[in-house]
Amino acid sequence: MTERPSRRLLLVHAHPDDESINNGATMARYAAEGAHVTLVTCTLGERGEVIPPELAHLTGAGLGEHRLRELTAAMRAVGVEDFRLLGGPGHYQDSGMMGLPDNDDPGCLWQADVDEAAAHLVEVIREVRPQVLVTYDPDGGYGHPDHIQAHRIAMRAADLAAEAGLGIAKVYWNRVPRTIAEDAFARLQEVLPGLTFPKSAVIDDVPGVVDDERITTEIDGTAYAAAKAAAMAAHATQIEVAEPYFALSNQLAQPLFSTEYYELVRGQQGAQGRETDLFAGIEVAS
Ligand SMILES: [Zn+2]
Repeated sequence: MTERPSRRLLLVHAHPDDESINNGATMARYAAEGAHVTLVTCTLGERGEVIPPELAHLTGAGLGEHRLRELTAAMRAVGVEDFRLLGGPGHYQDSGMMGLPDNDDPGCLWQADVDEAAAHLVEVIREVRPQVLVTYDPDGGYGHPDHIQAHRIAMRAADLAAEAGLGIAKVYWNRVPRTIAEDAFARLQEVLPGLTFPKSAVIDDVPGVVDDERITTEIDGTAYAAAKAAAMAAHATQIEVAEPYFALSNQLAQPLFSTEYYELVRGQQGAQGRETDLFAGIEVAS
């Protein structure tokens, strides 16, 4: 058996592209530093809106296949080799935006049994033995059913893993500090006339924004900003990048953060004040 890297990070996301938007710099940094980075994506995003007109014909399973290729390219950009779909590609399908009839589709993630879905994730945890888990807050950052469900599955899997003696030392939720978001949007207003995007998004469009006091951890990804932007650009059906900004299919410009922020929700804070390392305080075998 080959020796496993001493630091192991697991991220759980809803759709291809969420990992690059939320954690692209973090993933690139830990991969570059030799940590084992594992991404589990719960659906292929088959109900995402497609931006490029030449790809607008893609829907359903065809779009899912295309998005898996985009995810593959994005993971190449951040240097992550271990990425998986929960239960295998296509096992759980995109539930669409909250309130749509799509939410009732029996194959969609929103209709999945959380315990059953979490069991798939526990198998990954058993294999990888991560010390750190990153996912969304209970609202999924912004209320998308798949993001809410990804949160529930990740947290339930963490509980089940602990019961099985596979406890994960630290669990984090993706965050953006309110003052950082406010400053970035203020700068965006100034440069917006020079950008290709017609309008600006607003802070409420950014997932996971909270008051600064709740931020426990700040990962400086400045050195990996280009890798993050490349990973986001690889998701061309979903994201248009014009560094340091980007837009989703609504064409509303928003800031691309190369420093990424987290709230520690389980485990011991590993530093006085803000941590600068997700593994802070964890004893890792050297
Ligand atoms: Zn998503």
